Amino acid sequence: MSLLEVKNLQVAYGGIQAVRGVDFHINQGELVTLIGANGAGKTTTLKTLIGMVKPSGGSITYDGKLNGTIASHDYVRHGLVMVPEGRGIFGKLTVEENLQMGAYYRNDQAAIQSEIERVYELFPRLKERFKQLAGTLSGGEQQMVAMGRAMLSKPKLLLLDEPSMGLAPIIVEKIFEIIQMIAKEGVTMLLVEQNAKLALEVSQRGYVMESGRITMSGPARELLDDERVRNAYLGE
Ligand code: ATP
Repeated sequence: MSLLEVKNLQVAYGGIQAVRGVDFHINQGELVTLIGANGAGKTTTLKTLIGMVKPSGGSITYDGKLNGTIASHDYVRHGLVMVPEGRGIFGKLTVEENLQMGAYYRNDQAAIQSEIERVYELFPRLKERFKQLAGTLSGGEQQMVAMGRAMLSKPKLLLLDEPSMGLAPIIVEKIFEIIQMIAKEGVTMLLVEQNAKLALEVSQRGYVMESGRITMSGPARELLDDERVRNAYLGE
């Protein structure tokens, strides 16, 4: 069974139809990417998955539960965790305090501490800066904090919105290495990216979204080779 099953999803902001009947699914253990131009409806789709935006039609089944059955403040506890575009970190808290915030609903202090150490192994830069206020970090370091904090929530399904946004190419590579490491640890992921090439290279499957609709889908390798994808999204 799929961990996530989305059927005929529709979302409207007033009169603007941002998502127009979208179907997709994510199997347990998969890394799936959703690519598309600015304004295609990708962020809206992610926000709808975690209950931040209410759909006007269709259904979302996560881990066997239909949308509406999990309260929006309860998604993290159910393992559905989003790292938003722009990171959403707490600038006035330290790196370590931000990581601890990811575990706010947990009581297993010993496990939390060992997972923080694990995050520091993945991101040695964060270990060096654990007492620094997160707001004073570079963009790449802030992305690392946001991903580390999400890991502390023990995600079953991790939603990453534009993790490479605004980062230097060398940092983007690092972030993508980490995405692959997280995937190897068995976390299922949905990756939304403008950097379609890198996203498809690390993913098993992909979906292309255009003007609120899914227009192409398939194994990531096939999409990478697809003429239309190459012209529209890979700058070829
Ligand atoms: P981007 O990569 O630029 O974030 P996207 O594919 O994530 O693009 P969305 O942010 O989901 O696209 O936006 C889809 C459409 O919905 C756009 O036309 C956008 O202007 C509109 N939209 C998004 N958020 C709102 C909102 N809060 N109120 C009204 N319209 C919105």
